[in-house]
Amino acid sequence: MTTVIPLPAPVLLPVMNSEQTFPVRRVYCVGRNYAAHAIEMGHDPDREPPFFFQKNPDNLVHSAEFPYPPLSTDVHHEVELVVALKHGGDAIEAADALDCVYGYAVGIDFTRRDLQAQAKAAGKPWAAAKAFEHSAPVSQIVPAQAIGHPVDGNIWLKINGETKQQGDLNQMIWKIPEIIAELSKLFTLAAGDIIMTGTPSGVGPVSRGDTVSCGIDGVATLTVAVV
Ligand code: MN
Repeated sequence: MTTVIPLPAPVLLPVMNSEQTFPVRRVYCVGRNYAAHAIEMGHDPDREPPFFFQKNPDNLVHSAEFPYPPLSTDVHHEVELVVALKHGGDAIEAADALDCVYGYAVGIDFTRRDLQAQAKAAGKPWAAAKAFEHSAPVSQIVPAQAIGHPVDGNIWLKINGETKQQGDLNQMIWKIPEIIAELSKLFTLAAGDIIMTGTPSGVGPVSRGDTVSCGIDGVATLTVAVV
């Protein structure tokens, strides 16, 4: 069977110490999952149900460069723990959720903050603020088999060597098993799904020429040049 147009290229992420790659199916992102970040964005950090938005699979890139996107003058960095699923399902119990996890990575949820603010004010969706080209640089995927399932650890981001974001995974309002359980009530999760789990406080703008480095202790590091 042939296709009427060329098959889209699969989105494949590198896996640490492996010749094999991780194929991406969908990308889910958690909003406001660290209390200090919720407060800095003007929200109540009380434990409301988590909410989700999406990026496009091919927004995930393992690349040393982040091209500054058009139609924004206020692109912000958000360093996040990235979860990569090896299987899924519906209505997954939190107690079973970690069995679905293949591995972890560190990534940046780049955000056109000006377009997001306009969307919020108008009650419009966030797609243009979040799901743009190259908007989610990610490290290699690190198998849980190698590092376990992180519940705490320093998560940080620096611009040109200066610390901008610093938090700990233990500050996440919704923990990884709970996020998977909540997502699987709304969507059928499956192998290849990626979850970006929210950012600690300290988000702010990047500029062309910046070197952005970030990492999660015990997981991975990532460096990208803003071009
Ligand atoms: Mn985010």
